[in-house]
Amino acid sequence: MLGLRYFACERCETVVAEVEAPVACRECGASEIGELTGEGSASEYFAPSGRGRDGGQG
Ligand SMILES: [Zn+2]
Repeated sequence: MLGLRYFACERCETVVAEVEAPVACRECGASEIGELTGEGSASEYFAPSGRGRDGGQG
């Protein structure tokens, strides 16, 4: 198993699946990359039914 993990750019919210955390976002070059955790959380990002993110920090 490769054990892919999902990471989301905190600037442009681009989600990528990598084995290791990317150094920088491939889209905008930001280094603020957060790992997505929890089952199904990543699929929500990929799903076309734009579910809004909860407001809060950020
Ligand atoms: Zn980005």
